Amino acid sequence: MNVSDSERISAILDKLKYKKASDINGADLVLVNMCSVRQSAVDRVHGLVQKFRKLQTTRHKLQTILTGCILEKDRKKFINSFDYVIDIKDIKNLSQFLDNHFFQKLRHGVISERSDARQNSYLDIAPRYSSKFSANVPIMTGCNNFCAYCVVPYTRDREVSRPAKEIISEIKNLIKKGYKEIWLLGQNVNSYHGTWDIKHKTKQIGFADLLRTIDNIPGNFWIRFTSSHPKDFSDKLIKAMARRKHITPYLNLPVQSGDNKVLKSMNRHYSVAQYKNTIKKLRKQIPDISLSTDIIIGFPGETKKQFENTAELFHKIKFDMAYINKYSPRAGTAAEKLKDDVSITEKKRREKVLTKILKQTALEKNKMLVGKKTIVLIEEKKNDFWIGKNEQYKTVKIISNKNLLGKFVRVKITEAMAFALKGTLINEK
Ligand code: SAH
Ligand code: SF4
Repeated sequence: MNVSDSERISAILDKLKYKKASDINGADLVLVNMCSVRQSAVDRVHGLVQKFRKLQTTRHKLQTILTGCILEKDRKKFINSFDYVIDIKDIKNLSQFLDNHFFQKLRHGVISERSDARQNSYLDIAPRYSSKFSANVPIMTGCNNFCAYCVVPYTRDREVSRPAKEIISEIKNLIKKGYKEIWLLGQNVNSYHGTWDIKHKTKQIGFADLLRTIDNIPGNFWIRFTSSHPKDFSDKLIKAMARRKHITPYLNLPVQSGDNKVLKSMNRHYSVAQYKNTIKKLRKQIPDISLSTDIIIGFPGETKKQFENTAELFHKIKFDMAYINKYSPRAGTAAEKLKDDVSITEKKRREKVLTKILKQTALEKNKMLVGKKTIVLIEEKKNDFWIGKNEQYKTVKIISNKNLLGKFVRVKITEAMAFALKGTLINEK
């Protein structure tokens, strides 16, 4: 989502005739689009501030602006380190902050009044897509779920969905331009509830219907989406995925913990059994689906036994990929009041245990793909390899003399690693 927001910021700066500097040393303006999900991301911004300060001792012209997901507590800290702190939803007004007169008047001011009208409107800024073949398309922003550990409802406010018409027209345009991969984005895409105008009537549609409508657009492209919440993962959505034309057989379904008590204190509103049942239905209807998840280890009060339940779930489900995060206390969230009582050493140990299981199961599953054919969208060339992701969002490397960037290619898998596959090119698709 932050990458997608940066694409909107780039478009505004393009219009204002700013050019991209090759690095921070050559920049007149530095705009930081920050993330607050974990403290490590916030610490990186503190690191950058030190860098600006050094540059500003030799160059007075450097303007600095902070935007993105910012917690109130950090906003107060950063006010004196940046010329401006701008709410991401006010980014349309960026030009005002860059205008010299205005800039002088408001130096060190903070513009951040909250209003509902602007909540949705920043999403309709046409972005400058950073890729020529893969595009991020936000369908909603904000979150109503208030998971006990999470900053998102505080930094991005309540859920707002984009009108379906706007999303579909953006996607049709992208497909016309030759885009091969569309990522539908939202903090919780499953709770999408946008308006849809049919024959002069406006009705509400949910995510499964939106997905089906997009899947019916003709063309040669893939649809992916993220993030999904297990509590909202409906049978209707599984059906829409199973009937797919363009939707890829890949799903990131964050479970966060394999223990019911921990899930309850995280305020997640599903049980381990319900999660397993969703996975069972998905695998039944989409046998080639690959699954990834997000985990928080060392949530306050997580005992060794409760962690073992997460390890057990890893053995049972055999994820293809997992994003394992050490719990990081966040100001203002419900969990902040709980004691962060799992030591960093123990968090690291638990992380190692899960990574080991993941590597085993992912390798086991990848080995079954050797000898099979797959379609890959090539994203980059590194050393001798063209590297891309296949339909199942697995990294695939191939060698070829042709320029394959941004192309769909057919590949025969020859070698399996835990988190990547090697193969030989059959042909371009
Ligand atoms: N909407 C998604 C998650 C978005 S945040 C969902 O409902 O699952 C992305 C990931 O960051 C989360 O899945 C979680 O694993 C991690 N995360 C969020 N807050 C965290 C925290 N306080 N400490 C550690 N990891 C966190
Ligand atoms: Fe955060 Fe996701 Fe929970 Fe929303 S659903 S509060 S974004 S973890």
